[in-house]
Amino acid sequence: MTAVTTEPTSQLNFAQEVRSDRLAGLWKLTFFGAIGIAWIALLVTVTGRSWIGATITPAALVCIGCIATRQLLASNRYEAAVWAYVIGIMAGMGYGIYAGQFLLAFTFPLVIIMVGLLLPVRATMLTLVVCVAISLFVPMINQAATTINGQQLFAVLLMGIAAGLAAQTSGELYGIAEWALESYRKERTVKNQLFDSQQEVERSYMRQKALAEQLQETNKELELARAAALEAKNFRGQFLANMSHELRTPLNAIIGFSETMLNFPMMYENIDLPNAYRNDMGQIYNSGKHLLQLINDILDLSKVDAGKLDLEIEEVELEGLFKGVLATAAGLVGDKPIKLKRQTPSVLPHVHADPLRLRQVILNLMSNAAKFTDSGSITLGARDEGTGEVTIWVTDTGIGIQPQDIDHIFDEFRQGQSGRKKGRAGSGLGLAISRQLLRLMGGQIWVESKLGHGSTFYFTVPVADPEDPMTESQPSQVANPAQLSRV
Ligand code: ADP
Repeated sequence: MTAVTTEPTSQLNFAQEVRSDRLAGLWKLTFFGAIGIAWIALLVTVTGRSWIGATITPAALVCIGCIATRQLLASNRYEAAVWAYVIGIMAGMGYGIYAGQFLLAFTFPLVIIMVGLLLPVRATMLTLVVCVAISLFVPMINQAATTINGQQLFAVLLMGIAAGLAAQTSGELYGIAEWALESYRKERTVKNQLFDSQQEVERSYMRQKALAEQLQETNKELELARAAALEAKNFRGQFLANMSHELRTPLNAIIGFSETMLNFPMMYENIDLPNAYRNDMGQIYNSGKHLLQLINDILDLSKVDAGKLDLEIEEVELEGLFKGVLATAAGLVGDKPIKLKRQTPSVLPHVHADPLRLRQVILNLMSNAAKFTDSGSITLGARDEGTGEVTIWVTDTGIGIQPQDIDHIFDEFRQGQSGRKKGRAGSGLGLAISRQLLRLMGGQIWVESKLGHGSTFYFTVPVADPEDPMTESQPSQVANPAQLSRV
């Protein structure tokens, strides 16, 4: 077979190609057969018997038909090629019969079968008619005979049988070819689909590979950025610790001397500070205190960042702590019309905490409540959750917190809208430190607030277990910076 078309849809072309191949084989066989017969005829002629008319001319006609078939096949005219082949043979055989070799009529059944294989049934029937006509009438022309003899009838009978067989076989062959072509078409479709999906898989593999490479690049960059950020954080921590320490010494001198000048005239030979200076000196003292608080906060945070904040964890009795805090809070409220309330049960379990730091957290919340409340009340409350934790809260009837600020106010140096207002300004560090301290003590902090109605800050501390040796007073070293990640 020369070539099989790769187009799945062109079944007709494919079938035609198969038949063209077959015809190509046939014409060659016939051509060389005819030449061989002519050759033998020539030899016989040389030996004296004159068969030349009955063999050479038919062989020549058959060869002409074969050559025409070849040309037509070369120019892709398949049907014409078959007819050229068949006509060549019929002409050759017809001439042979005309020359008196009636036996050649017995090749017609073969011709009919060949046509049956190469062309549709219509063509087979047409060939049958022509072959029968040649077999019956050509002998009459030559011999002027008028009757049909038994030989002719037998030949016609064979031709009829050949035509019947050809029609039957070619029908079956067509069926088989159709089935084969259909299977071939399906196979091609599946193959094409497989090819497409393979290409798709390859494309997505390439895409994935590119993405993986990109991800790797990004990961590397992230790793570098993380390392840089860590270095910067350490550097910042170190810088803040050094700066705070260096600032505190002169600041303590400023606060100390301004306080002495204001309150202890005996240190200056009982000469009172003139009134003109007193106001400004008061400003220096208050600003100094504020600055010291700020520096202390920064120092605390940098220690937490560096994992170097030591807590004195012990069993803490809350009642005494609350009393002390409320006494201090009275000073924070000043002359504002604010009532300080308390909502704590008479019996509360002891907690597991650093008392100074716990006091710092509550005072920080009370001081914020006092700062952001103009009138109403501030309540300090506590309850035993019964789950190994005590919840403590500070509620105020102040200005409240904007919903969009709630997520940020526990971050360092972050203030809400309220915190940026004149007269309420702060550093944005109090809540951040409180959160870190509570985390180190095993608790957590959160807030509920309604703008214009007030806020409640809650936090938890673990209940002390009397059996636990940790509750005995001892420093708890915070060395693992992983503990310090933000909520
Ligand atoms: P600041 O020094 O600004 O008070 P904090 O960390 O203590 O820093 O508080 C952060 C912000 O949270 C404040 O600026 C304020 O906007 C808000 N805030 C804290 N407590 C209250 C409160 N009781 N009422 C209203 N807003 C509050």
